[in-house]
Amino acid sequence: MISPVLPTYARAPMSFVEGQGSWLIEESGERYLDLGAGIAVTVLGHAHPALVKALEDQARRLWHTSNLYTIPNQEALAARLVASTFADTVFVTNSGTEAIECAVKMARKHFAEKGEPERYRIISFEGSFHGRSTAAIAASGAEKMVKGFGPVLPGFDVVPFLELAAVEAAITPETCAVMIEPIQGEGGIRPVSPEDLRALRELCDQHGLLLILDEIQCGMGRTGKLFHHEWAGITPDIMTVAKGIGGGFPLGACLATEAAASGMGLGTHGSTYGGNPLACAVANAVMDIVAEKGFLDQVSRAAGRLRQGLEGLVAGHPAVFEGVRGEGLMLGLKCRAMNADVVKAGYAEKVLTVAAADNLVRLLPPLNISDEDIDEGLRRLDAAATALEAAKVPA
Ligand SMILES: *Cc1c(COP(=O)(O)O)cnc(C)c1O
Repeated sequence: MISPVLPTYARAPMSFVEGQGSWLIEESGERYLDLGAGIAVTVLGHAHPALVKALEDQARRLWHTSNLYTIPNQEALAARLVASTFADTVFVTNSGTEAIECAVKMARKHFAEKGEPERYRIISFEGSFHGRSTAAIAASGAEKMVKGFGPVLPGFDVVPFLELAAVEAAITPETCAVMIEPIQGEGGIRPVSPEDLRALRELCDQHGLLLILDEIQCGMGRTGKLFHHEWAGITPDIMTVAKGIGGGFPLGACLATEAAASGMGLGTHGSTYGGNPLACAVANAVMDIVAEKGFLDQVSRAAGRLRQGLEGLVAGHPAVFEGVRGEGLMLGLKCRAMNADVVKAGYAEKVLTVAAADNLVRLLPPLNISDEDIDEGLRRLDAAATALEAAKVPA
């Protein structure tokens, strides 16, 4: 018999009822160190007092009005995103997938309104993940995501990651945009180098294409800048954000330049919930802290400490790990053992990590994780690796 919850997830056996900072707690009182942060979402840890206060204060005043009316919290959030990024305008959504939908529609509409409706094709990359909508799975092109869901939405040209020659070869008079994650997340923490990001920007400029950056996982301070592309010194035309921006409250956003957004006039797009007063109250509180002076420097310091520790872990367990990759607090342990076994061995040591493609284990801790918790996490991962080695029958 089918379970009351649609059985689409392979879940770990733990279930948590409370969170405190970098820790998750089961009903039994068992505590787990959370180095996954709900897949890069709880950027300020669990139950951060400022976020709790913002949520409670707003909950007592007003939850929802719909976008039939002006929403002051949404106006404030958009204004600060505009002030701190390349963007001139923001559409607020409830999730990453919806931000991607907005980006895809915006890119196509941009050209349609310019009298070039035939330019609707978007170049995307193998191994990418942009969500689970029909457009987002088409952008990824992965067999396991599209299989059985009927005709794949046309208009995506998926090229190998990251072959610039393949990108160039895929450009036709029908191309409107290139869409890429500056660091592939689900695809296995695969960063695009600053040089390649600049080359992509240049290629888009040469051919009059829009550059869409999906910073849903790598953005919101995760790599020590508010958004990762800042390291490369380039700006996109459109950017999608989600995960960390709500700190655990479902929220996403599609940011754009005025030029890129030129087709998105009255009535072209919408959302009932998107940017409601409650969600935006929390997002503004997240922004208050992430934008605070020194916060991002602290992220970089924590990242240095974690990375150094992970390098030591790899050196100490060459049969389990092959290397470390990633940027900031978006790090991956490339495994020699099965990544699923490493994640499981972590559960036994009460430390939570997240598997990714390419036999990787991801570490995406809260951005405000303490040195103590980093060190504790490293000790637990070390114990997990030791247990894995011991479990291996000697050859
Ligand atoms: C998680 C993710 C998405 C999808 O976001 P949802 O909130 O799950 O819809 C899209 N792109 C990237 C890079 C992601 O990591």
